[in-house]
Amino acid sequence: MALTHNLGFPRIGARRELKIALEQYWKGESSLADLQRAGAELRQRHWQQQAGLDRVPVGDFSFYDQVLDMSLTLGHLPARAQGFDGEPLDNYFRIARGRSAATDDQACCAIAAGEMTKWFDTNYHYIVPEFTADTAFSLDASRLLEQLREARALNINAKPVIIGPVTYLALGKAKDDSNPLDLLPALLDVYAELLVTLGQHGADWVQVDEPLLVTDLDADWSHAFNVAYHQLKSAPVKILLASYFGGLDDNRYLAAHLPVAGLHLDAVRGRDDVQPLLNLLPSHRVLSLGVIDGRNIWKTDLGAVLDWLEPIAERLGDRLWLAPSCSLLHVPVDLSRETTLDDELRSWLAFALQKLDELALLASALNQGRDSVAPALADNRAAIASRQQSTRVNNPAVRSAVAAITPALGERRSGYPQRAAQQAAHLQLPAWPTTTIGSFPQTEEIRRARYQYRHGTLDKDAYHDAMRTEIAHSVAAQEKLGLDVLVHGEAERNDMVEYFGEQLDGYAFSRFGWVQSYGSRCVKPPILFGDISRPHAMTVEWIRYAQSLTDKPLKGMLTGPVTLLNWSFVRDDQPRADTCYQLALAIREEVLDLEAAGVNIIQIDEAALREGLPLRRSQWAGYLDWAVQAFRIAANGVADRTQIHTHMCYSEFNDIMAAIAAMDADVITIETSRSQMELLDAFDDFRYPNEIGPGVYDIHSPNIPDAEHMVALMTQAAERIPAERLWVNPDCGLKTRRWEEVTPALENMVAAARQLRAAHIR
Ligand code: GLN
Ligand code: ZN
Repeated sequence: MALTHNLGFPRIGARRELKIALEQYWKGESSLADLQRAGAELRQRHWQQQAGLDRVPVGDFSFYDQVLDMSLTLGHLPARAQGFDGEPLDNYFRIARGRSAATDDQACCAIAAGEMTKWFDTNYHYIVPEFTADTAFSLDASRLLEQLREARALNINAKPVIIGPVTYLALGKAKDDSNPLDLLPALLDVYAELLVTLGQHGADWVQVDEPLLVTDLDADWSHAFNVAYHQLKSAPVKILLASYFGGLDDNRYLAAHLPVAGLHLDAVRGRDDVQPLLNLLPSHRVLSLGVIDGRNIWKTDLGAVLDWLEPIAERLGDRLWLAPSCSLLHVPVDLSRETTLDDELRSWLAFALQKLDELALLASALNQGRDSVAPALADNRAAIASRQQSTRVNNPAVRSAVAAITPALGERRSGYPQRAAQQAAHLQLPAWPTTTIGSFPQTEEIRRARYQYRHGTLDKDAYHDAMRTEIAHSVAAQEKLGLDVLVHGEAERNDMVEYFGEQLDGYAFSRFGWVQSYGSRCVKPPILFGDISRPHAMTVEWIRYAQSLTDKPLKGMLTGPVTLLNWSFVRDDQPRADTCYQLALAIREEVLDLEAAGVNIIQIDEAALREGLPLRRSQWAGYLDWAVQAFRIAANGVADRTQIHTHMCYSEFNDIMAAIAAMDADVITIETSRSQMELLDAFDDFRYPNEIGPGVYDIHSPNIPDAEHMVALMTQAAERIPAERLWVNPDCGLKTRRWEEVTPALENMVAAARQLRAAHIR
């Protein structure tokens, strides 16, 4: 008998109830008791929705972040949060976001928020544990015990979920020059105590998440796994060691020989692990196979999974457990609410609840035979076939265009030096040219117009008039500020991916397909389901209008193919590279249309290029090859005189600098103001060959940078990059800021450029 279980459930709620409850509490509009009640209701609902499983995760609910939860369980708070005498949950929010509810905004309560970073290769961000040489741990199991008690009161077969000690250490950052691994012995004492406590409170299995096992491990980290699980093996509970987000590959032997009662594998991304592990795994171990994709929204081909699984089930008997590949945190909750998606498309999809239904079907088919669920399997087969054969998915013209791609399509006509000379002669820009990254503040008026347009109370013409008014306002503001290269301001764009996805064929949009990004922040990734084509120009009219208002050069603004890909739910029926090339061809058409409309500077944002890097170093080159080529195809069809810009939202590009240079954009603008030194280090080893605008204005902060500060940053940059190749710009778009902040900041930025020119640093 194969058992079913789940690794984690989305906690935000099908209607984003948790987001609403959190934000009300933070604004001081509800009490802590209200918030606690909202959390308890969500947990209860989610357990009931999972009650058909043989084991249900408990402790996966979080008010902000599961890593921060683990830090508190381990009694590991940053020094600045220790000694707080208020409610523990308020202290938790202080660590997460710098403060708790608006009602306690006394100076005592605000502290520096913890650093956030991405959880493996997902778009979920966790709060980074902070270590020093004298970090100490002490158990606080209250959160887990409370949830365990709640679940057991509902007769839920509860399986507590915790982050494993080795992954926990690896996720953290030393604030001094200590090595977090030195903390392992002290940490293991607390884990041992935690497992004893969970056992005493009725847990039999505990899921211990160690996704670090799918990454490159050096000898020290491998050793840490051995030390940790040998020490924990005497725990009075059974440990299910869970790895996910990829294959174990060279860590197979290590994982198979850790003394735990069961091992969970990501059998979607790491299917190649399974056969070798069947042979490696000691004969009494449970093997949990994550056969339903927890990272995407497509229906599982149940017939194909069963063909593969049946012999394995035969061999393992009741040692086989079935689960989604990873926690369902990374997919939306419930497809049945998506009433605006057409029936055909909806029949291809599965959100969290539907994935659990798939799991139940698989288990029935294995345990009682396929006949016991024949109608459901037939429905599944029909849906899979409909997706494979649909003319909405397959567009022969797009396929032949991709097949016809040659390397030449990604080549500019001339090298950078010749292009730069032509662009300089044509554009006549001053030294230290100033520009911005694209968006200007999304004002209340813009939001209102968009809302009314969506709800039918503003017609298309009136909406377009309203957007033109905004564009005219931003162009006038930039002329007044004295910027050199202007932008239209992106008023008409709700989101830099959604805006393009809505106009491309092959994309669909959910209404409620929210996925937690961090804390109360959710994103709604568009669904890229079919071959991509561009029925009409997407941006030309807006840019042309903006250009008609000014004699200064106006920069056309596009989102690049890699970013469109990395911020969508992407079809799984062809390699991502192929999908990316399709996007590249569509963006290329737009680039050429902009050029034909007289736009001399075109920026193609690749904010998410770095996010697509695989977890394993050995796979980086493969990804970067096609990602860079896709960008080049999108960008490089233009004449020498047309200047291509790109923009990236991070400064850690030392390790991918060569790939970024290979994109061959004429100008790149990057986020640097929070870590200027880090960026500049990159230029010691590799000389970026083209022009570059290291951001000098940190747009993530409401602070107004002064001109001297920006002059200093640019002067520093000029020590490593020839001044004639430097641009002066903010480090990202300005849409989240207010005009009252943006205007003085850009005034200072323009003043800084003037000072640099006057100082003849060029
Ligand atoms: N052009 C976009 C903007 O200015 C870029 C946003 C981003 O890099 N995330 O908003
Ligand atoms: Zn950016």
